[in-house]
Amino acid sequence: MSDGSSGRRTPGHADDAAPATGGARPRLDWQVDLRQVLDDLQFFAVVLDLDGRVTFVNRAVAAALGWSPEELVGRDWFATCVPPDQADAVRTSFLAKVGVGAIHRLDENHVQTRAGVRRLVEWSNSTLRNAAGEIVGSASVGLDVTDQRDLEARLRRDARTDPATGLANRLHLMVRLAAAVERGRADDDYHYALLFVDLDRFKVVNDSLGPAAGDELLLAVAGRLATLVGEPDLAARLGADEFCLLLEGAGHERAAELARAVQASFASPVALATGEVFVTGSIGIAPKALSHAAPEDVLRDATSALHRAKALGSNRWEFFKPTMRAGAVQRLRLENDLRRALARGELSLAYQPIVAIADGSLVGLEALVRWQQPERGPVAPSEFIPIAEETGLIVPIGEWILGESCAQLAAWAAQSEAARHLVVNVNVSGRQLGPELLAQVDHALRAASLPPQNLKLEITESVIMDSPTSAAELLRRIKQRGVRVCVDDFGTGYSSLSQLVRLPIDTLKIDRAFVVAMTNDPHTAEVVGSIVALGQSLRLEVVAEGVETEAQRAALARLGCGFAQGYLFSRPLDAEQVAALLREARPAR
Ligand code: C2E
Ligand code: MG
Ligand code: MG
Repeated sequence: MSDGSSGRRTPGHADDAAPATGGARPRLDWQVDLRQVLDDLQFFAVVLDLDGRVTFVNRAVAAALGWSPEELVGRDWFATCVPPDQADAVRTSFLAKVGVGAIHRLDENHVQTRAGVRRLVEWSNSTLRNAAGEIVGSASVGLDVTDQRDLEARLRRDARTDPATGLANRLHLMVRLAAAVERGRADDDYHYALLFVDLDRFKVVNDSLGPAAGDELLLAVAGRLATLVGEPDLAARLGADEFCLLLEGAGHERAAELARAVQASFASPVALATGEVFVTGSIGIAPKALSHAAPEDVLRDATSALHRAKALGSNRWEFFKPTMRAGAVQRLRLENDLRRALARGELSLAYQPIVAIADGSLVGLEALVRWQQPERGPVAPSEFIPIAEETGLIVPIGEWILGESCAQLAAWAAQSEAARHLVVNVNVSGRQLGPELLAQVDHALRAASLPPQNLKLEITESVIMDSPTSAAELLRRIKQRGVRVCVDDFGTGYSSLSQLVRLPIDTLKIDRAFVVAMTNDPHTAEVVGSIVALGQSLRLEVVAEGVETEAQRAALARLGCGFAQGYLFSRPLDAEQVAALLREARPAR
């Protein structure tokens, strides 16, 4: 700002001000002391001579920099108020331009306080001339923008960062992935790969140790992943326990190498405040493909590969293959058919007898769902139950199974004395474990007029152990009703003894894998022996499932296992066949 240039202009509103209020006020006189005006501004105001020496600073700038205005006047501005590493460059530029009236009208540079603190200032500069029109120096008005710029930078960073781990967030990953896809399409020689890392059994840690331990674990995993990738690669967290690593300029080989490194990084336990835990992760890898038109395509392929890796067992990695997508299409068709199956009456139940090993007498029946699909024929439960679980269809299907099983047992009991003491075992999926299950159980029992003692719910060990605390609470409420509880596929779910004793359960069902192996592997036989002993000491019934041979039956009898189920005794039967069986009073095996 210069006296000369301001003086030449006469803003219209200033002259208009006086007449509006009638003569009492003094007229605005443009000969006011501009120094006083500048001194009052909140903005910084600095006037320098042609050598860069301070001829005027207002109070705002002096106070901000820790000087008094008098101390600064006469000093070399650049030597005094610009950080030493920048002073020479800024001075040289100023000196070269000021004399020829060429200084930048707007610029931004650092100043330094007397105590050595840097601040960023945005300046508006003008060339100062004297009355004769000769250049005599410069005047600058500045604003300290340090805080504003810090905030902007933080907001920019936050918008791209996952707050829990400090890794990139989904948005940032997608932006980077989009750029990689685009570059890959333009340049045949440019490759990329996306690794989708998902922690196995993270929910267990979260549920058993609490969310604080879960957060700690995620942070530790994020730290390990971050050390495995450097620029230009990117580590991101998509949500929950899902992480992505984007490799740029790298193909299959480096992707496989990185996958190996990720798994190796999980080899050592993670130290949490509550103790050490081990984690493993499954990885799906999507390398560059011609079919990638958008970042979502890459993520979709990596997700398909991840699902495959998980389906094949945890703690492994798989590359995406186009056949996985074909699998997805087939799955979608199956899912659509399954949606209609219930309404169209395509589902039915088979019942497999459960017998007392000692005398072969029938003690119960396990209800097993069957799906007769009109075009495909019978579809195995192992194929459609997981889809029903993922889509939530298991909830209405499960409700139907409960109702149908109870009604069927009640019908048998009405016809046959022998059926009255029988128990029907109904399998319940993890997705069904909620308060609605209680209402469904109540309704099924009431509708069938079946005493609760005749119903037993089978829940797999892994489902219970995925969230032991909430499962225990629900099981307690099931037990309160007099309905019994069986832990299915026992031996595969890593229950800890301490958790097991606290669970309100009645029956352990030994997984078929142990029964198969026990007759030729002494170690497995020992395991079965200890499960039986465990059951006895916790006063639980023990059922062995998948018994196919006399040798298995004999071995189980020797170990003291009370009950069994398997092809040796009977295959799953339809309702008619069970009715026929019940007509013989005490069916022999
Ligand atoms: P699960 O509950 O462990 O059921 C036992 C499975 O072993 C049944 O297979 C049964 O047919 C089979 N099995 C019985 N004895 C033998 C044997 O001696 N040898 C062999 N190799 N297999 C035997 P299925 O019916 O195919 O059912 C498979 C799984 O699907 C079940 O395992 C259960 O997890 C699930 N499932 C079946 N029905 C239902 C249901 O109504 N609801 C839910 N949620 N899941 C069900
Ligand atoms: Mg079962
Ligand atoms: Mg089982």
